[in-house]
Amino acid sequence: MTTTAILSDIHGNLAALESVLEDIAGQNVDRIVCLGDIVGYGPHPCACLDKASEFDFCVLGNHDSSALFDPEGFNASAEQAIFWTRAQLESGQGSEEDSRRRLEFLCELPRTVREGDLLFVHGSPRGPTNEYVFPEDTQNTKKMEKLFSLVPHLCFQGHTHVPGIFTSHNSFLRPIEIPTGYAANDPSLRLMINVGSVGQPRDGDSRSCYVIFDGEVVTYRRVEYDVERTVREIEAEAELDNFLGHRLREGR
Ligand code: ZN
Repeated sequence: MTTTAILSDIHGNLAALESVLEDIAGQNVDRIVCLGDIVGYGPHPCACLDKASEFDFCVLGNHDSSALFDPEGFNASAEQAIFWTRAQLESGQGSEEDSRRRLEFLCELPRTVREGDLLFVHGSPRGPTNEYVFPEDTQNTKKMEKLFSLVPHLCFQGHTHVPGIFTSHNSFLRPIEIPTGYAANDPSLRLMINVGSVGQPRDGDSRSCYVIFDGEVVTYRRVEYDVERTVREIEAEAELDNFLGHRLREGR
């Protein structure tokens, strides 16, 4: 059976991505996939894209899309960061050929990937790039019913940066509630699995988050990284709001 490391929301945080890749190297993983938002917010969009282009597949995130086209619904600092990111991609690190390759890679990202009864998206099975599914949405029965009607068996997603598993009985399990993993092998189960964020966790834990799925059990991994390195790199970049660094310390 294939064991997959599922990452999401790297957001140009190279220190975080490097630590996660180191952790993955010790986990007997066959392949790495990414659920989007490789860039946006963070100080190293080019280096993160170069690493992600070696993964088995990536899907398109809303920040990836906004780096190419016009951002919609972004707050001021997110918008400023995405324009800076675009400039980096267009003429940042390396040669013209490197820039062309990175932009082409982003342009070709699919919005969804389906493998048998597994679905991989950035946002949700209904709005793969932009729709948020927050833990509070378990109160919204109509929304959850609609979303679960589109889930073949397991849907892996990101976007909110809040890790946890949505069950079709309208509960939300945080990683801390399933420390030994969650058995997902019963094919009659329907789950939406938010894998959390590598580069900007928002669940009050500053450590990077990702998921390992061995075909049966979903296991969350938390990885410490050098947060202060990324804070310094953001502070050094005039067009990135310092808040984007400071929030990393609290994981919010
Ligand atoms: Zn994101």
